[in-house]
Amino acid sequence: MAATASNLRELHEMHQRAKALRDRLGSGPRTLATRQTALAAKQAALIDARKALQDAKARLKNKEVQLQGQQAKVDDLNVKLNAVKKNEEYKAIQNQIAHDKLSMGKVEDEILETMTSIEGQIAAIAILESEAKAFEVEVATMKAQIDSQAGAQKTQLDELDRGIAAAEGIIPDDERERYRRTVKQRGADALAEVDGNACSGCYVSVTSQMVNELINGGGLTFCKTCGRILYLSEDSLAASGRGRN
Ligand SMILES: [Zn+2]
Repeated sequence: MAATASNLRELHEMHQRAKALRDRLGSGPRTLATRQTALAAKQAALIDARKALQDAKARLKNKEVQLQGQQAKVDDLNVKLNAVKKNEEYKAIQNQIAHDKLSMGKVEDEILETMTSIEGQIAAIAILESEAKAFEVEVATMKAQIDSQAGAQKTQLDELDRGIAAAEGIIPDDERERYRRTVKQRGADALAEVDGNACSGCYVSVTSQMVNELINGGGLTFCKTCGRILYLSEDSLAASGRGRN
């Protein structure tokens, strides 16, 4: 087997398929990791929201206890009020009651505010909970899908890698080292078609001597500008009169 245009094209296509497979194998877990991080953030937000709700409920309880204490005090004062004989004392207790009722009014307002806030928090938590649950299902489904595909993709990739190794038999021994270096550096982009006398990797024209080398086939021809391994496109090959080389 020689390094003909069609052999090189085939090898290039195999490299590209392997790259696409590797990209897919890598992108699935990356996407999954991103979603898992987002899910963890949502779950953490839910924990924070629940904690904030607990705090608000504790605040409400305190205010209610405070209000009860104030009410008890006012009740006592009212009892005293009925018992006092002196007018000055009566006035003083009345003032005290008026003052305490004002304080109670403030606490009652705070209780109402806190209750309204708690209602809002409960509604927000319900939304967060359903979102987190749906998100959790989505991430689990994604993980199962990626795991089930990964096995088949790995098998496919192994087959392809073996196919590439076999197809690399067309590379002449004395150019094998440079071929390996180029593939290591550029991956699937190590090879490029020559179409209309230009390298399709860097779009720089190749010399007519190089085109002749490509028509004759056999050894490898490297682009003088970008270093890619060149092969003639099917159209260029047909135009050269060699047909399917
Ligand atoms: Zn080039």
